[in-house]
Amino acid sequence: MAQRKIPAPQPNPETQAFWDGAAQGKLLLKKCTTCGQVHYYPRALCPFCGEEATAWQTAAGTGTIYSYSVMRRAEVPYAIAYVTLDEGVTMMTNLVDCNFDALRIGQRVKVVFTPTDGGPPAPTFTPA
Ligand SMILES: [Zn+2]
Repeated sequence: MAQRKIPAPQPNPETQAFWDGAAQGKLLLKKCTTCGQVHYYPRALCPFCGEEATAWQTAAGTGTIYSYSVMRRAEVPYAIAYVTLDEGVTMMTNLVDCNFDALRIGQRVKVVFTPTDGGPPAPTFTPA
């Protein structure tokens, strides 16, 4: 099945380490060492308590589909989704390598890194 070319991510100083991790096949999340909460997308300050004491941790790469939408009228159909990781954060992503008709909310998925159009690979998800 043909897959849509994902546009290149645009790393910035807050997300550079995230994309460097993706290039090594690691899904990185920020965890606050003050309040202990994990957040996504990566930020320099904890969005829960405002502290700067955040550290990178490697996510397990597994989660569940919170919601999804299949773009059937695109030249190459694709599915975007919110996936809630087992660490508790929800990320917008693409669902790949799957039968779109068999997708279900609550379905278990795992991360796969998909090449992008000239940038670092993007974390996408496929049924686990
Ligand atoms: Zn915090």
